[in-house]
Amino acid sequence: DEAAASPEIRELDATTIERIAAGEVVERPASVVKELVENAIDADASRVRVSVENGGIDGIRVEDDGHGMAEAAARRAVEKHTTSKIRDIEDLEAGVSTLGFRGEALYAIGAVSRLTVTTRPRSGGRGTEVRVEGGETAHVGPAGCPTGTTVAVDDLFYNVPARRKYLKQPTTEVDNVQRVVTGYALANPDVAVTFETDGRERFATTGRGDLRSAVMAVYGREVASAMVPIEANAPDGPLSGVSGLVSHPETTRASSEYVATFVNGRWVTARAVREAVVDAYGGQLAPDRYPFAVVFLDIDPAETDVNVHPRKLEVRFADEAGVREQVETSVERALLDAGLIRSRAPRG
Ligand code: ADP
Ligand code: MG
Repeated sequence: DEAAASPEIRELDATTIERIAAGEVVERPASVVKELVENAIDADASRVRVSVENGGIDGIRVEDDGHGMAEAAARRAVEKHTTSKIRDIEDLEAGVSTLGFRGEALYAIGAVSRLTVTTRPRSGGRGTEVRVEGGETAHVGPAGCPTGTTVAVDDLFYNVPARRKYLKQPTTEVDNVQRVVTGYALANPDVAVTFETDGRERFATTGRGDLRSAVMAVYGREVASAMVPIEANAPDGPLSGVSGLVSHPETTRASSEYVATFVNGRWVTARAVREAVVDAYGGQLAPDRYPFAVVFLDIDPAETDVNVHPRKLEVRFADEAGVREQVETSVERALLDAGLIRSRAPRG
């Protein structure tokens, strides 16, 4: 009949719209950790401690010693579309130096969990605790706490059962969280990053600022001592700099996730760069094995793909072939100089 041919179109209620939007920002514990660690780094923290319970499904805590917030700021921070990082679209076009600017993470996390923000401003004044449950501010009051901010996220997706069910085994979620914390720890060797799961410390970087000691903390002494530096001077091409550390061809893993790439200091995934690193070993890696690598690229932001969604980590380059060539040449040179690979038969 007529009704079956023409379904009714309804307007969604506000709660449903918000939960759907929140689900785009917060997919799993690792995405919560990413947002909270970015906020801590944006707050100029020198120490960040991340701890998760049951893979983050039951609890996530990110503590920092950053600039903190006064009460009014803490109240606002958990509301929809609130940020201290940009004012308008012109600020955005002029370029942002912070990792965040969208002003939606804390709100989105609060919409799908029980969120507690405890914070005291570096500039002086008392501490505040703000509690949010399922998107509603449930409590604001004074708190005795050190300078900086602690964000606790409990019972993720307690009010979105379909999402909660879709989460993987806690061990898989832990692996995802660890990958994120490792990425930020390597990108910021001047920040002391501690990672704990179920009360047990997994790693702690010193925050002293040198990459090799950060690598030693996250991957262990054996891996760190098998790594050689990539020279800071890149050959001609779109990149203004290539630096970092790459491993001996026999220090490998079965997954390419240990080839960590950073563009202008941001931890990203960049397939072209990962492949170029592997290519630089010139077939001297065992089949299906990948090296450890920490590769920092400097490039004019105009040369990177701005159409990639800012929430996604994948980065593309205008001159991808040029980037590949520069990375491969730089890594190959590092490996040859250290005597870790044999030089290839001259090409052509
Ligand atoms: P965004 O990071 O895009 O601005 P968020 O929702 O992640 O949006 O955070 C909202 C605001 O809350 C931030 O702009 C910042 O002013 C404040 N904030 C969040 N986390 C922290 C923190 N760890 N320390 C200090 N301020 C914070
Ligand atoms: Mg943020």
